[in-house]
Amino acid sequence: MTKKIFRSSLIVAATVSLAAIIIITGILYNYFNSSTILQLKSQLDFAANGVENCGIEYLNGISQNNYRLTLIKSDGSVIFDTDADAAKMDNHIDRAEIKSALNTGYGESERFSATLLEKTFYCAKKLKNGDILRICATQYSVLTLLLGIMQPIIVIFVLAIILSAILAKRMSKKIVEPLNNLDLENPLENDIYDEISPLLLHIEQQNRRIRRQFEEIKQNRKKFDAVIENMNEALIILDEDENIITANNAAMHLFKTNKECIGKSFILTERSFDVDNALKEAENSGHSEVNIQRAGGEYQLNISRIGGKKKLGTVILAFDVTDKVFAERNRKEFTANVSHELKTPLQSIMGSAELIENGLVKSQDMPRFIKNIHSEANRLVTLIDDIIRLSALDEKSELEFESVDLYEIAKEVMHNLKNAAEAKNISLELDGKSTEINGVKQLVYEIVNNICENAVKYNKDNGQVKISVEKSDDGTYFTVSDTGIGIDEEHQTRVFERFYRVDKSHSKKIGGTGLGLSIVKHAADCLGAEVKLESVIGKGTAVTVKFKYF
Ligand code: ADP
Repeated sequence: MTKKIFRSSLIVAATVSLAAIIIITGILYNYFNSSTILQLKSQLDFAANGVENCGIEYLNGISQNNYRLTLIKSDGSVIFDTDADAAKMDNHIDRAEIKSALNTGYGESERFSATLLEKTFYCAKKLKNGDILRICATQYSVLTLLLGIMQPIIVIFVLAIILSAILAKRMSKKIVEPLNNLDLENPLENDIYDEISPLLLHIEQQNRRIRRQFEEIKQNRKKFDAVIENMNEALIILDEDENIITANNAAMHLFKTNKECIGKSFILTERSFDVDNALKEAENSGHSEVNIQRAGGEYQLNISRIGGKKKLGTVILAFDVTDKVFAERNRKEFTANVSHELKTPLQSIMGSAELIENGLVKSQDMPRFIKNIHSEANRLVTLIDDIIRLSALDEKSELEFESVDLYEIAKEVMHNLKNAAEAKNISLELDGKSTEINGVKQLVYEIVNNICENAVKYNKDNGQVKISVEKSDDGTYFTVSDTGIGIDEEHQTRVFERFYRVDKSHSKKIGGTGLGLSIVKHAADCLGAEVKLESVIGKGTAVTVKFKYF
């Protein structure tokens, strides 16, 4: 700004000075010219009078004059000259002032010197005898005049520069100061120059637009934060240098970090080699997936690169796949177990049948072999039944709850087990009264039947089975206690696993499949009931199911 003002004022000063110099020089030059000619004319008249009255002697008398006088004949030859030898001078007939004087009685002309620094004025007058008297004077030209005043011009120019610089500095300070103090937050409240009113209006409009957009961004950010904070999935957004921009609560929980991780490199939060590789893969191919184990669960990280050719960042979304992985693992285990469990009795049946077919079984052994085939076939049927019931439970997604009389079901089961109990001289006892619970009849039946069946199956001869149905403040308790073989502590939690049997051969002998208690557990889970097992090896077992009130 200062520079601009300085330049402009300097140009103005220089232009004005130059114009003034040119005009003044022109005026002075013209003035000097005309006064010189006037003086020459009067001197010429004066000298002409003298020559006409006193003859050529008059001219000899004024040889010390400032002017040069020349007397020329009408044929152009020089008779006398105050400064030079007339005999050596050229014929002057061609000179403009002589020609004009011969024709009109008076003539004048001017001629520059070879260097253009001097100018000579000539005035000629025709005398009465026909001779021409010429007077001339030399004067400096415009150039000389200019060179003469060059020094003051330079002084004026330097002064103009200094003045312009001071003026520019003061002016720019004066102009800029109010501009620097403008209140741009409230542009319309400023009152300085009318000229900048449109600019202030424009700034005010821009301010309003920025405020509105900022508000929108803030609202969007709030919505975005609310959405990601309420997500069950962990979400982390990284910038192009893999520093964390955003991480929701689920992500902080998953990676065991806090808000301090924001702005820092993701590698400081998660140092696993697999995740690092997955990040690199996503950077190259745009997307990658990796499974990690955290907090006792299994999580799938979906990593996506954001941006086209130039990477803008990375989004990491983590899904809890614990249940999925667990279900998948269970399914595989279950399939393997089912195949194995089905294969064993089938192989036994096929072996016995082959021996019989090839006539390798003696007739007295035949009943034993046939009994074996029969019992293995029975086992197969029981196994398949249990598998079908378990699969049915697995597939049940929507259960229709109804009022179920737990006591009545226990009574029915007890009745069904009567023969089996009698075979081992086991006494069956049922305590309680008709009690309604909210459940699914078939599932309640499965629970009661499997627990009671086990209490008889794994009981000793002459043992006891006590069944009770009891209402309490926090739910209905169904308890079956027996005086059987009991379960060692190390097996007590595992007996609810599928196909788990404490003593495989014993269980096989008495027709166990290892699925009974897993059916109980599964059914109880479906009904929201809790199963508890207490057992002392050699003394007996008590299984309690607590059906909650809904
Ligand atoms: P199974 O069909 O073999 O009975 P379960 O799942 O019902 O399968 O039981 C798993 C294992 O738990 C059985 O093999 C048995 O060893 C043990 N068990 C279950 N109930 C009792 C009980 N009342 N007394 C002793 N052991 C039991």
